[in-house]
Amino acid sequence: MNWEDNVRKVVPYVAGEQPKNQDVIKLNTNENPYPPAPGVAAAIQGFDCDILRKYPDPDVSVLVDALAKRHGLDREQMFVGVGSDDVLAMSFLTFFHSDKPILFPDITYSFYDVWADLFRIPYQVQPLDDDFCIRKEDYCKENGGIVIANPNAPTGVAAKRSAYEEIIRANPGSVVVIDEAYVDFGGESCVPLIEQYDNLLVVQTFSKSRSMAGMRIGYAMGSKKLIKYLNDVKFSFNSYTMDSVAIAAGVASVEDEAYFRETVAKIVATRERTKKELARLGFHFPDAKTNFIFAAHKTVPAQEIFDALRANAMYVRHWNKPRISNYLRISIGTDEEMDKVLAFLDAYLKNR
Ligand code: PMP
Repeated sequence: MNWEDNVRKVVPYVAGEQPKNQDVIKLNTNENPYPPAPGVAAAIQGFDCDILRKYPDPDVSVLVDALAKRHGLDREQMFVGVGSDDVLAMSFLTFFHSDKPILFPDITYSFYDVWADLFRIPYQVQPLDDDFCIRKEDYCKENGGIVIANPNAPTGVAAKRSAYEEIIRANPGSVVVIDEAYVDFGGESCVPLIEQYDNLLVVQTFSKSRSMAGMRIGYAMGSKKLIKYLNDVKFSFNSYTMDSVAIAAGVASVEDEAYFRETVAKIVATRERTKKELARLGFHFPDAKTNFIFAAHKTVPAQEIFDALRANAMYVRHWNKPRISNYLRISIGTDEEMDKVLAFLDAYLKNR
């Protein structure tokens, strides 16, 4: 007997590379190219460090209240965590406690199967159709829970709220988690369904549309009953997930709705322009409703383009996985960054 026999063995999630060299055009982790709202910098610069002597508010009340107000919900319908990864992990631990398999698409956020393995949750992946769309009927069979990203990652494909509603309605016996990490860039949110369905949990993040990936703030919205169960598990794990600085910065971001809208609109405009240019260069892609585009070239393999971009300090994401190995996920940067990448691709594809 060796101590290693008693170790929990897992295959961890692999995050996109964070290069030490700052001199790259970084379009590989769906970060926002614009800074957070000006109030966030002011909140951090004006932060009274003496407050750090004390534990933060375990209920994160000020941030919960700000978010509840923004979404027109009660504070008891809101849960906050250390990025949506933390919120999703807690949700898996809380709601997926059945012998039946949980269901999610074959091509989706690659953390879902990692959490399922970590928590020993059985799961069954459901193949997207040839256009990378979910098939509603795949989620209307016996299951121990459902998790779907809307819009999906890395495909960028969004379905109508009514499609998710059918899935939620067909599953009164399990919790349906809708991961809306990218919804602000053009998806149809399921938040309006929360009042009607007490088995729906909607998860959002400050990492993309609020330019705060480095601060780690995510949140979940659902019925008071769901949120109570989620808090029971959180308080059985770590009472103080959110630090005092993150709480103050988060509130400042939520308070500036105009800046939020303006930043999202800029990214959407750049995305639409990038789509036209990529199509002109011979790429095809599903219609992206996200701050990234999932594109394949009609003749040149994705790996080759990925290597060429990388050699020229332009980072995008590529997965050597079935069905998607010929696609590149290209995050939307500033107009200037996209112009450089598009000019490089134009020259490369002409001269190879
Ligand atoms: N869900 C999806 C679909 C994502 O792509 C990401 C980003 N990696 C997350 C959740 C997690 O984001 P964060 O923890 O930064 O909120």
